[in-house]
Amino acid sequence: MKELFLLGAVFLAVGFFHIGTASAAKCPRVMVLATGGTIAGREIPAAGRTGYKAGVLSVQDLIADVPELREIADVTGEQLCNIDSKDMTDEIWLRLAARVNEIFAADAADAVVIPHGTDTMEETAYFLSLTVKSDKPVVLTGAMRPATAADADGFENLLDAVRVSASGDAVGKGVLVVMNGEIHEARDVTKIHTQNLAAFASPTTGCLGTVKNGIPAFSRAPLRRPKSEALFDLGDVSALPRVDILYGHEGDDGALAFAAEKAGAKGLVYAGMGNGSIPAEAEKALAQVAGRGVIVVRASRSSGGEVTSSVPSSDEAGFIESGALNPQKARVLLRLCLTKTTDAAEIARTFAACR
Ligand code: ASP
Repeated sequence: MKELFLLGAVFLAVGFFHIGTASAAKCPRVMVLATGGTIAGREIPAAGRTGYKAGVLSVQDLIADVPELREIADVTGEQLCNIDSKDMTDEIWLRLAARVNEIFAADAADAVVIPHGTDTMEETAYFLSLTVKSDKPVVLTGAMRPATAADADGFENLLDAVRVSASGDAVGKGVLVVMNGEIHEARDVTKIHTQNLAAFASPTTGCLGTVKNGIPAFSRAPLRRPKSEALFDLGDVSALPRVDILYGHEGDDGALAFAAEKAGAKGLVYAGMGNGSIPAEAEKALAQVAGRGVIVVRASRSSGGEVTSSVPSSDEAGFIESGALNPQKARVLLRLCLTKTTDAAEIARTFAACR
């Protein structure tokens, strides 16, 4: 009898220990830092199936619409701006990076989730991946259909983004984009479709993982994300230098390279054919502006693959290859490089470390 009593006491103690650890387990603190986009959009009934206004609902509306968030994390919200992401600006980018760094430096959250318009999401994600100095997760998400649509996709995307950010597995994986049940790395992800829910892909590397039935699962780590010492410190930066993208096409005579230089471009990204090839006349024009100090990066208008050094005339002119960066991401990196230096060799080294 005495033994049974003792056994019961041991069971009770073990039971309390387990309950105790479960209830004491730290609930991840996730800050939802909203910027607008279709995820915060409202349909315009008279405007047909695809008509809506982006950036209408507030961060409080977004959080209130997804009560399941509370089961995953201790979620708080903050409105950074409320725009259609086609109107993203340097000022907002700088404010966003500063705010995320501030949140982590103050230990005000374990992760940040950023609802964002899908149109420039990849650029913002890459910008943050080069400027946020923390191993804590930063996850961008959005929607292809406005929040008021009967088949809105934003609720599940927001839920998935919070699930990924709170999972623990996202720590140290850099800035991520979670859309349509897939987890992508900022460097590789791009918007590939104007309307499909499956609007994002990482064409060269594939996604990092998935969220299935609410469970995030990484299948690989982003091994080529920039080392913390390579990140850009935006402390006293109040403006980003002008860099234009020129789109390669049959018969390009290079006139736009001179126009961009005249408009004040400090750098140019040429979205060339295939492996960053540039038509001869355009290459001559670019070589001339490069000779006057404008930094020229060769990227590709092809949606997958890397741009490597393969064109002797471009190499002689000092053009830098974008590697795996698509034109819009090469532009982000070049602008950040130009906040530090105009030295082509130094910028080429930074590209080599990031691409
Ligand atoms: N125009 C929207 C935006 O980028 C598109 C979207 O969010 O899907 O803000």
